[in-house]
Parts: sequence; C-alpha cells; structure tokens
Amino acid sequence: MQHNWSRYLRLVLAGIGATTLIGFYFGEPLYGLLVGLIAYLWWTLIQARRLYQWLANPDTPDEAPQSIGMWGGIFDSLNKLNQNHLKKQEKLRSRISRVQESTNSMRDGVIMTDAKGVMEWWNGSAEHLLGFRRHTDRGQDIHNLIRSPAFKAYFKARDYQEPLEINSPAKPHIHLQLQISLFGDNDRLIVAKDVTRLFQLEQMRRDFIGNVSHEMRTPLTVISGYLETLVDHGDELPPKWRRAVNTMAAQSSRMEALITDLILLSKIETGEHTVDETPIDVGLLLNQICQDARVLSSDKKHQISINITDHRPLRGDSRQLRSAFSNLIFNAVKYTPAGGEVSVTWTANQYGAHLSVRDTGIGIDPVHIPRLTERFYRADPSRHKETGGTGLGLAIVKHVLINHDGNLEIHSNIGAGSDFICHFPCERLVEAEAGHSAV
Ligand code: ADP
Repeated sequence: MQHNWSRYLRLVLAGIGATTLIGFYFGEPLYGLLVGLIAYLWWTLIQARRLYQWLANPDTPDEAPQSIGMWGGIFDSLNKLNQNHLKKQEKLRSRISRVQESTNSMRDGVIMTDAKGVMEWWNGSAEHLLGFRRHTDRGQDIHNLIRSPAFKAYFKARDYQEPLEINSPAKPHIHLQLQISLFGDNDRLIVAKDVTRLFQLEQMRRDFIGNVSHEMRTPLTVISGYLETLVDHGDELPPKWRRAVNTMAAQSSRMEALITDLILLSKIETGEHTVDETPIDVGLLLNQICQDARVLSSDKKHQISINITDHRPLRGDSRQLRSAFSNLIFNAVKYTPAGGEVSVTWTANQYGAHLSVRDTGIGIDPVHIPRLTERFYRADPSRHKETGGTGLGLAIVKHVLINHDGNLEIHSNIGAGSDFICHFPCERLVEAEAGHSAV
C-alpha cells in the first residue's frame, strides 16, 4: 500500500511537472502548472463520482469500481470490507433460514409480533391452527385475527407464567393453548399448541365423574335412609349389630357428602353451573355461614369473629360463593383445636375485594400449599378421618374463584395457623345505587 502510494505520488508529480515543462516550453509555465492541477482535480472528481454512484445505487454490483493509485487503494479496501460484510450476511441469512425451516417443521404454531401486536412472522403450523394467511396478514394487528377478549387481556397483562386456553378463531373445534414470551423491545413470541385431545379427555373425565356421582346418589340415599331408621331404632337392635349399624350410617353420610361435593365440583368445572350475576350481600352471607360454623364448633368453643369493612354487593353466583366461603370457614374450625380463634374479614381496596379467613389452628407445611387445591390432596392424610372432610373443599373454592375471575392466596405454617385469602376484581363490586342485593 505504502509502495503504491509513493508510486502514485510520483506519477501525479511527474504529470504536473510535465504540463509545467510544456508550459515552460511555450513561455507560460504557470499556465502549464494550472492545466496539470486542473487535470488532476478533474480526475479526482471523476473517481469520487464513481465511488458515490457505487455507494448510492441500490442495484450496485458487489464489486467496487477499479482504479489506480490512491483511488485504487480506496476501492480495494472498500471491496474487501464489502466482501466480508456479504459473507457475514450470507451466514446470517442461512442461519435465519435454518431457524425458519426448523420452526416451520414444528407442530406448534409460532408467531412473532411487535410490542403492539403487529404480526411480523409466523410458521406454517400457525397458519394451519389459527388460519393466518401468509400474503395478507403480515403487518396486521393480531387482535383483529384472534378476536378473543381473553386473549386481548392475556396479551396486555404481560404476566405469562400460565398459558391461556382458547378455541381456534378459524377452526373452533381446535382447542389451543397459547404461551407468550417477551423478547427484544417488548416484542412477543407466541407459541400455540393444539391441546384438543387433552381437552376432550379432560371433558370426558369430568362428564364421567358427574354421571357416576349422579347415578350413585339415588341408591345411596335409599341406603342412608334405611340406615338412619335403623339407628333411630337402635334400642331394638341386638347389641352386636348396634355398633355396625352406627358405623355404616356414619360412612354412608360421608359418602353422601362426597357425592354432593363431586356433583357440585363437576357442575362448577363444566360451566353447567353458569355464574349467575346477582349482586350478593357478602356481609349477610358471611354472617349466616359464621352462625353455622358456631354450630359446627359447638363445645369446642372457638372464638369466631367477623369484620366487614365494605358494604358494596359483589356480583356473582350466591350458591357457588356460599359453598366456597363455607368450605374455608368450616375448614378453619375443623383444623383449629378447641378454644382457638377464627377471624373472617371482608375488605376492598383499589385492587379489588378480599375475603380473609384466618385461624390459629394446626397450620400447613408450606411444601403442601401449591398442591392443596388439587382434588383429594391432603396435607396430613392421617387427620382426614378425624375431620371427616371429603378432600374436595379447596378444589371447589379454586373453581368457584376462577368462575368469578378471582384467585386464592394461602399463607400458613405448621403450628402458626393459616390465612386463606380470596381475591375478587374491582369490576365485581356493585356501586350502592345499582339495586338490591341477594344472599
Ligand atoms: P378436606 O375435606 O380434607 O378438608 P379440603 O380440600 O377442604 O379437604 O382441604 C385440603 C387439605 O388442606 C386438608 O386435608 C387439610 O390438610 C388442609 N387444610 C385446609 N384448610 C386448612 C386449615 N384451615 N388449616 C390447616 N389445614 C387446612
């Protein structure tokens, strides 16, 4: 480069020297020098123009123009830079097309949108599962293509720990599980999984439990009825039968409670028991449940207190809410030793309405808390015989809260009592003038 440069300088000086000499020959050396300089300037401008055209033209060839001297050096360096850049670009392009090929072969739909939901890219499965069209949907707002309010709320909430389940907008028989991840500048990567088979199996399971429970209810009612009559006439029974009949009566009433809970749970889960949107006087409802809880406590003499700080009615299904609140308050009595305290509090703030059922009972090891709302899950299986629970109470609470757009929070520790908190969104509270409330 250095060698080329000095050669180029020598050439330029020689050229200008030659024109000066010719000028000298004609008696005008200054004109000769001027002609030489102008010629050099002209040539430089031509090279600059070639460079400019090469850079500015979008259809520019990959190779920069050729030249000599300093301009040749500049063009060569630019050529090298350009070749490196093209190689990197090619590598990147082949990587992107490999990623696209692999995501295209995925059975799950993959969609990329910007922060506002403008569709940027999606794979073939997304077209199949959600009905997107490659040529017309690019640049569209995803909410125009997936018109589900639940999806809109899920997209906006930015809390993507749990997936969302919806029916496909294009093929309603396909049940989809959508999971969003954030990347880049709040852009979204949406993965859509076809969970139709699982959904149908789950539906079948629920229907099966619901049907079996219904079928068992009638014969069990007959058996319990006869057993109750036998218990009432216990004095007339031979002593060796008396104990057996009492045990049978106790077990059959446990089974009845179990079947009642199973039927209720299956109704709540299947949505058959659709949420009634009646305004409910929660204070009155809780007072009634606490009365029943005092009867349940009887000689165990728990101190059951109730504190209502918000008197606006709550929109919801009174039967479902009664069942959920009773389960929590009766559990607090069942799992609190005699003389313990149970406090029931109903409050509201800017985040919504909250019911807290706190007790000073045996508490729960925190390792069990995440699984407590599963059907038949018991933190201490040895105790359930004493308490006579069905193991379905908290599953019912969870599903009732889901039906009311709420959620359950549990704080507990062994020996330190428990606090079960039900959260409801603000929109469920009815302003006072909206009408009378029911229980
Ligand atoms: P169960 O009919 O057994 O009470 P639940 O679904 O109502 O079933 O409760 C599940 C388990 O959670 C119970 O078996 C018990 O171990 C635990 N549990 C529920 N409430 C309380 C409470 N207030 N204090 C301690 N443990 C509780």
